[in-house]
Amino acid sequence: MQREPGSEGRRITGPSDLHLHSIRSDGTESPAEVMSAAHRHGVRTAALTDHDTTAGWAEAADAATSLGMTFLPGMEMSARDEWRSVHVLAYLFDPDDADLRAETERIRLDRVGRAERIVRNIGRDYPLTWDDVLSHTGSGATVGRPHIADALVARGLARTRSEAFDGILHPREGYYEGHYAPDPRRSVSLIVAAGGVPIIAHPSSAGRSRMMSRELLEELIALGLAGFELDHRENTESGTKVLRRIVATHDLIVTGSSDYHGVGKPNLPGENTTADDMVARIIARGTGSAPVFP
Ligand code: AMP
Ligand code: FE
Ligand code: FE
Ligand code: ZN
Repeated sequence: MQREPGSEGRRITGPSDLHLHSIRSDGTESPAEVMSAAHRHGVRTAALTDHDTTAGWAEAADAATSLGMTFLPGMEMSARDEWRSVHVLAYLFDPDDADLRAETERIRLDRVGRAERIVRNIGRDYPLTWDDVLSHTGSGATVGRPHIADALVARGLARTRSEAFDGILHPREGYYEGHYAPDPRRSVSLIVAAGGVPIIAHPSSAGRSRMMSRELLEELIALGLAGFELDHRENTESGTKVLRRIVATHDLIVTGSSDYHGVGKPNLPGENTTADDMVARIIARGTGSAPVFP
């Protein structure tokens, strides 16, 4: 996915949805199916942002462009600020950057051991095995609790992914285990060094209680954080208000996206979109890989 000469001058056609998941992580559809779903919902520029992997890029780019859509390569990188789970969207980075690859491989590998530990914990009280989970995980996919949720649903221990998350998978039930994730400062630096554009996903999401501190956000901006995903169904209004002031102070990029996971979540492609000028700013800033035009 080399930058083609002249691609900088191409105009972006919205609507743009820059946060979509496939079976390469915890979505329920193939990368090509995700692109057709986006197209069906009117999206014309789309990014695939699987958790900690770029494995779906080639398939998604082919599908998107054959549907007449523009494709932006992306990823949602797992990070952690103390106990707080932080997701960093990364666009247009070099997928072969050695340091970034090593870090995402470390996260993906640790996610496997962690999922096995969660399943072992659950297996003490419920009939659930690691094989159940494997049969709901795409080969080579980044494993997460959604795959365990699917296995719980198949076993009749929950009706939907969401019910599993509110029940057995909820930390209060005592089966939860964490996985390795880098500090957000490290994520942002690695993405920037790989020529990418880092944007904090759902920065004020309600479930993850309390945002990162203002001090940390300022530090991340100094390290090259490009912006915030402000239009996302999980963001709280109060948090977004605070973030809008930071955006204005630093002239940051603002995005809006669906966080589509196929049938795994109610989120639908195009339910939030990113303005054309913001997509253009992301493209102007990303130097590690290029958008793929139809
Ligand atoms: P993990 O990273 O393995 O801890 O799992 C977190 C992932 O689960 C997130 O990326 C979400 O996509 C997904 N998730 C979180 N809550 C829910 C929910 N209530 N229903 C469906 N998926 C969820
Ligand atoms: Fe997810
Ligand atoms: Fe996320
Ligand atoms: Zn996501």
